[in-house]
Formats: sequence, structure tokens, C-alpha cells
Amino acid sequence: MGNPKATDLSTLEPGLYLIATPIGAARDITLRALDILSTADVLAAEDTRTLRKLMDIHGVALRDRKLISLHDHNARHAIPKLIAALNAGKSVAYASDAGTPLISDPGYDLTRAVIEAGLPLVSAPGPTAAITALTLSGLPADSFFFAGFLPAKIGRRKTALGGLKSVPGTLIFYESPKRAAGMLRDAAEVLGAERQAALCREITKKFEEILRGTLGDLARDVAKRDLKGEIVVLVGRGDSVEINQADLEDEIKAALKEASVRDAADQIAAKYGLKKRDVYQRALALNALEQDSETE
Ligand code: SAM
Repeated sequence: MGNPKATDLSTLEPGLYLIATPIGAARDITLRALDILSTADVLAAEDTRTLRKLMDIHGVALRDRKLISLHDHNARHAIPKLIAALNAGKSVAYASDAGTPLISDPGYDLTRAVIEAGLPLVSAPGPTAAITALTLSGLPADSFFFAGFLPAKIGRRKTALGGLKSVPGTLIFYESPKRAAGMLRDAAEVLGAERQAALCREITKKFEEILRGTLGDLARDVAKRDLKGEIVVLVGRGDSVEINQADLEDEIKAALKEASVRDAADQIAAKYGLKKRDVYQRALALNALEQDSETE
């Protein structure tokens, strides 16, 4: 049996329901999100007009229900109102403008208040630009780090990028079209121009475009264009996550006790984001040395 809150929507139980909404294509709304929007006692949205429009597209009537606005600038007043509704046993649905609430969008303070008040919190998952872009980028999706929006000022942006240089996974950034060229230029300088990257623009919309290449190539191409629309920039893992040579050899020797040369090299290359071929050569040499010392 699944979570009853996930299946029985004729009578929605009290609680805060976080609703993910489309990031472009209106039909990316989930059936469950529509059920919750139809049934919740109270609706809350970052922008009430955007939610009304989405509900109109899908034929969900507001009826006589309250539609409360909750964004970064009115949270102090809006959150207590919503907590009061929840305390009165109401179900409240919250949607941000697009995608998943909390993901570079409002909703965090509301969920903290709900958790602290011991009230039920439910998620109706759906689209988010970060994960959709990751699946389109062609970059490894086994391990990733969502960094949201970088600072707009160049100095602070470079510092923030420097702090992400050794993250052993694909980096995901949200970026404005105005700043994309500058961000790619700084990322190429700080993270390395040879790192693989992708720029995903207007995902799920009419003018969707995916650019793939090295950071250096993308920085050069985007500098010549006047990009419009919504953008996610992704950067592949760096080749060399800091590990000193002695530690690397110790790790390879330990792995060789349990695995073949090929498997040991693959494991360690993946763990440290190193080139498989380089680690394989090192593992071969260490394995040969080990066998020589056993036969002596
Ligand atoms: N909550 C949203 C989510 O779950 O993805 C993100 C909201 S944030 C305010 C908006 C940013 O998300 C945009 O500036 C862009 O970086 C990214 N974004 C949203 N929709 C997008 C789309 N259709 N294509 C590319 N990027 C998108």
C-alpha cells in the first residue's frame, strides 16, 4: 500500500502540499498535482496570477477557495496565515511560479514553519529545470551538485566557482541570459577551459536549445550571441580531484587485493574523477611490481 495521502484525493487530509508545476510545457503538470489543486481547502502561490492561469489551462476551478500569495517579500505575514489554516485542520497547496518549490524558489521558510509546528508536509513531485537539464546535458548524472544562481558580481562569482572546483560530480547552475556569457568566461578561467559543459536553454519550450562542448568552446560561442530565455549551465567533473600520488598508489594497491587490474582502475578513476586510462596504467605497473616481489 502506498502513502494514503498519495492515493485518496477525494478527501485531502490536512497538511501542506508542495506542488511542482511545469517549467514550460503546460501539460507537464502531474495528475496528482491537478487532483490536489482541485481538492485543497486553501491554495497558496508565489504568484497567484500564474497559478490561476495554470488552473484555467487545466480546467481546475478556484470556486470559493482562498488563494493566498506567498513570496520572499510577504513571508512574514503570509506564513502565519497558512500555519493558522493548517492548525484549523485545512489542507493547503503551495506552488511557486515554475518547477519545484524551494529549488531557487520560495517555500523553504514555509516548510520549516510547518515542520517546527509538527504539521504534516507532503510533496507532489514534478518538473525541475536542474534535473531536466542534467538528463539532457550528456554529462555524468551519477553524482551532481546543484549550485543554484552564482553571485552577479565578478569577484564573488569567481570565488564561488573556486569553491566548487573539486566537487566530484557534475555542477548545475541556474543563470540569467544576460549573465550567461560572463559566467561561462569565468567558469572557463576558474574551473578549466577543457572541462566538458552544457548550456540548456528554454527546456520543454518552443525554442529549446542544448549547447554541448568544453567550457572554453561554450564561452567563445555564447560571447558572440544574444541569448534569450531561461538557462541552466552544467559543468562536468574536473579530471583531477586533489589526491596525492602516494595516497593514490595506496588506494590502487588496496583495490588490487580485491579486484582485477581493470576493475580496480575503474573504481578508483570513478571515485576521484581521474582518467581511466591513466589509473589503469598505474595499476598495471603496481600489479607487475607486486607479482615480481612475490616471485623473488
Ligand atoms: N523552481 C524552479 C525549478 O524547479 O527549476 C527554478 C526557479 S528559478 C527562479 C528560475 C531559473 O530556473 C531560471 O532562471 C533558469 O535558470 C531555470 N529554469 C527554469 N525553467 C527553465 C527552462 N524551461 N529552461 C531552462 N532553464 C529553466
